[in-house]
Formats: sequence, structure tokens, C-alpha cells
Amino acid sequence: MSETYLNKDVIPMLDLKAQYMPIKEKIKSALKEIIESGQFVLGQNVCSLEEEIAAYHTVKHGVGLASGTDSLHLCLKALGIKRGDEVITTPFTFIASAESIAYVGATPVFVDINRDTLNINVSKIEERITKKTTAIVIVHLFGQPADMTEIMEIANKYNLYVIEDCAQAFGAKYKDIPVGSMGDAGCFSFYPSKNLGAYGDGGMMISNNTDLYKKVMLLRNHGTVGPYEHSFLGYNSRLDEIQAAILRIKLKQIDEYNQKRRNIAHIYTSILSDSVFCPVELPDRSHVYHQYTIQSPSRDIIKEALSNNSVSSVVYYPLPLHLQQAFQYLHYTEGDFPVSEIASREVLSIPVYPELEPEQAEHIAGIIRQAVT
Ligand SMILES: *Cc1c(COP(=O)(O)O)cnc(C)c1O
Repeated sequence: MSETYLNKDVIPMLDLKAQYMPIKEKIKSALKEIIESGQFVLGQNVCSLEEEIAAYHTVKHGVGLASGTDSLHLCLKALGIKRGDEVITTPFTFIASAESIAYVGATPVFVDINRDTLNINVSKIEERITKKTTAIVIVHLFGQPADMTEIMEIANKYNLYVIEDCAQAFGAKYKDIPVGSMGDAGCFSFYPSKNLGAYGDGGMMISNNTDLYKKVMLLRNHGTVGPYEHSFLGYNSRLDEIQAAILRIKLKQIDEYNQKRRNIAHIYTSILSDSVFCPVELPDRSHVYHQYTIQSPSRDIIKEALSNNSVSSVVYYPLPLHLQQAFQYLHYTEGDFPVSEIASREVLSIPVYPELEPEQAEHIAGIIRQAVT
């Protein structure tokens, strides 16, 4: 790849067209079949995808839903989490992790993160547990599995539900176990930019708990138990056939996609580890690099240098949730979660996707090295 090409064309954060090209014929024929069948919502593809994703995780059940946010919301609702309850999560995540807690009327209670993994700091969970605590929403941020052994121990000790927010971590493993299968439920998003992405919105909850599964199955479709017979009020949160068919095609390749992300990440880390703080690879887990996120006090200088060289980069997340106006009613202030606050000032996510060429990764890493020296 010539320097001129690199200088002229912007390297994006993600290239969905490049991912589409090799599977184009399969996608087109699947779409044609669905359109000709006239079955668009909750059909055979959704059922099959639910079975295939449950099997991938060696769990009993999967429920296709309209989004990752809905998978968290309907899961919490089905577990009976309600007003007056407190649910623990971190302030350094996408808002949906905490928003879903608020949707059921419960109070999000934040716990700070670790500087190295950007996941929940398990040593700080117990001090935030009260008589009202009923659950923990564990985020496997950027594709890095959280400390599940310690988390499950705390949850068992205090009898709390564990909901894994796996929106960024499809296929990531903790001690060879895929994330989403260790807690009471795993919640996934198929938003197009996620590691397993549809061509629109979609989500899924997986679980071994049959009662929970049945409840979410009803909640996603207006509590419908028979034709126009509703046992309780639910929602419209169905996954459609077109998205399910696309996801079934991509599911066959998810491990390959994730491995390619890991290869790019390893190139970055090998070049950058003495210039900036790189994502950590822990011996007992497999990070799937939904994002490759560096941390540096020179973050803004790096971002500027990348931009000058036509390389995209994004700050995930510039403002932790406890400082968001939407959560002002929780009365947190600056200084409450110092690690999350520092992370917000120092993180930068750089391009990582299966189709990124190793030479492009080397080129990007070179720009960063130069910017900080
Ligand atoms: C994307 C995301 C969600 C929400 O998923 P949607 O499908 O966009 O509703 C929830 N949690 C995290 C951590 C996410 O990254």
C-alpha cells in the first residue's frame, strides 16, 4: 500500500462495505428469499438465530429483540427489578447500560472502573451494596471481559442478579467461557457497528433461566399469550427476519472477524506500548477489541496528528455517566469517580476492524508514536 493512497483516503473507524463484499451473494440471496416469502417479523430466521446464538454460548435460550438497549431493559423488567431497587453499574460506558436501569424505575448506582481494563473495579462493589441492591449490570467494555469470578462471588454472597452487557463483546471469552453465559443473562446489541452487526437495529438476550426467557418472550410482543390475548402489558421489541438472516450469515464468521481484530490490536500494542497506555491482554481472557482504546495525557495532540494524516479516531466516552445532565437527579459530582473522569480525558479509540490491513495499522501506530515524541 503506497503512502499516497494512505494520505489521500481517510482511514475510517470501521469499513462495513469491505465486510459486505465477500458475503454479498449470500446476503442478496437471503434477502430475496425473505422478501419473496412475505414473512418479515419473528419468522424462521429469528428462531434459528436464537438457537444458533444460544448454542454458541452453550446456554438454553436466546430471545431476539429490537435492540441491545431493549435486551437490557426487558431483562431487568422480567427479573422484577423495579422502583426502589438499586442496580450497580459503572459510569464509564454507553448510556444504555444505566438508562435501562432507570427505565424500570430502579436507581443506577455507579462504581468506578479499573485504570487498566476500563471495566468495573470489583474491590469497590461491596461498599456500594445496600439492602435495596438487587442486581449488577456488568459491562464488558470495548470487548474486554470483566472480572467474572470475583463478580459472581459477590453476587452470590449478596443474592444479586448479574446481567452481562455484552453489546461490545460478542465472542469475548473469560477462562474460555464466552461472555454472556456466566451471569443470569447476557444482553447483546446487533447495532451495525458492533462486532456482530446487523444492517439496522437488533439485539438478543441469552439465559439458562427458562422463566426469565419465557417472560422476555412475552414482553417483546405485548404480553401476547394467544391471538389478541394479553396476560400483561408488554412492548413491541421484535427482531425482524431480514436482520436475523444477515446475522446468521455473519455469525458463521464472527470468530474469524474477532481474530482479525485481535491481530490488528497486537500490531498496535507491539509498536505503541512504550509510547501510550495500551489495552491490556490478561492471561485468562480473550479481548475482542470492539475498540482499540489507548490512554495518554497527550490524547488531544494524538487525535490532532491522526486527523492531519486522515486517520479517524473517536473519544469513547468524553463525559462519564455520573456527570451527564440526564443523570443529574442522582446528585453525583465531579470527583466521585476519579478513574472514570481521568479515562474520559485520556482515552482515544483508533481504527480496528477485521478488514484493516496490517500495513495501515503500522502506519497509524507510526503517526501516534511520532505525535508523542
Ligand atoms: C451499543 C451498546 C448498547 C445498546 O445497544 P443498542 O443496540 O444500540 O440499543 C448497550 N450497552 C453498550 C455498552 C453498548 O455499547
